[in-house]
Amino acid sequence: MEEAAHHPETPDPDPAGEVVELCRDLLRIDTSNYGDDSGPGERKAAEHVAALLHEVGIDCTVTESSPGRTSLIAQWGGAADRDALLIHGHLDVVPAAAEDWQIDPFSGEVVDGYLWGRGAVDMKDFDAMLLSVVRARTRAGRIPDRPIVLSFTADEEAGGHLGAQHLVENHADELAHCSEAVGEVGGFSTTVRGQRLYLIEAAEKGMAWLRLTARGRAGHGSMINDDNAITRLATAVARIGTHEWPVRLTPAMQTLLASVAELAGTEATPENADQLIDEFGSAARMLGAVIRNTCNPTMLGGGYKVNVIPTEATAHVDGRFLPGYEDEFFATLAQLCGDDIEIDPVSHQQPWQSDFGTPLVEAMTRSLLAEDPDALVAPFLMSGGTDAKHFRKLGMSSYGFTPLRLPADLDFTALFHGVNERVPVDALTFGARVFDRFLDEV
Ligand SMILES: [Zn+2]
Repeated sequence: MEEAAHHPETPDPDPAGEVVELCRDLLRIDTSNYGDDSGPGERKAAEHVAALLHEVGIDCTVTESSPGRTSLIAQWGGAADRDALLIHGHLDVVPAAAEDWQIDPFSGEVVDGYLWGRGAVDMKDFDAMLLSVVRARTRAGRIPDRPIVLSFTADEEAGGHLGAQHLVENHADELAHCSEAVGEVGGFSTTVRGQRLYLIEAAEKGMAWLRLTARGRAGHGSMINDDNAITRLATAVARIGTHEWPVRLTPAMQTLLASVAELAGTEATPENADQLIDEFGSAARMLGAVIRNTCNPTMLGGGYKVNVIPTEATAHVDGRFLPGYEDEFFATLAQLCGDDIEIDPVSHQQPWQSDFGTPLVEAMTRSLLAEDPDALVAPFLMSGGTDAKHFRKLGMSSYGFTPLRLPADLDFTALFHGVNERVPVDALTFGARVFDRFLDEV
């Protein structure tokens, strides 16, 4: 009895009780991913997470794709006779140039109601919410009946090859019973005409990184040359860069724009889609890119001396295509390039989309509305890719659901990979409470 008095057990710990502290501690572990294996790796963060899970009695598999590139998987939840739910977060962050920041990006300080640090929104916020909720529920014996797999991955910021892909290829047996997956990027609020609207990620664009090569006749820079590789390449690159890709509304964006159109007292059509997207303010930068294919020239190369016309010139372009519009993307690109430009793949990823009318999405919606009753919830399509693209290869339906209630004037999308990345402290505790409710219903 004496012993118990010294170590009082809280009968029902607050699911959001530890979230700020857990997030701060994760932010202080530098997991910068430079994309070339030169960073510190994720081992320290993974071991930290494993210890936090172990402390409440959850065992994990800790695995490395290469030295220091560490991910972990834990089996949680009950033994109900049904498919499991995968909940995943990545441990790595993009690098931060400290001199550009107001606060040391790895200090994890709370200033003006925000927790600052690289990874505060991408995505140590969700890692911390998940850990806080799982630890509180486990301590209180509130473990969901549904089998749940928890996964914390390395390398998401460089394509996930050393993280999620490694898990899918080498630990498929620990994931095989999962039919649905929840991770980043979604569940955050935007504000349209004073109305809070939570966006759940239900689709992602595909990616086509391509190298363009023009070949011509080398020669002296002082002479006539009508077969100049640089001129031909530059013309193609300019055509690609200025091309206006037509609006194409996929199911997720149709549903989202219908909600916005209702607020604006109109109906969503491809013609007014850009106008409706503008209603999102700063989030329009990202959302404007998901109602059309896009292709941005990003690198140029060619030549070695000012008076020499080179044989060859190259460019790289970053193409992103909507689910169902890959053929149109490549046909258009070929046209824009013209005949004499060679197009070679550098990296290619498939787009995906999940159903929005599922019980799991209804559970997300109900849990958000329980904490923010006047809000709206809608799906969206993400411009970039996440670990979801790897887990989907095992047949899971994927969603991005990291609930955050954000101030209307916060330029949230600019914080992803941006300077002064930070998350409102009350958004973290809100997110943990919503995620706790969500787990009641999965
Ligand atoms: Zn991320």
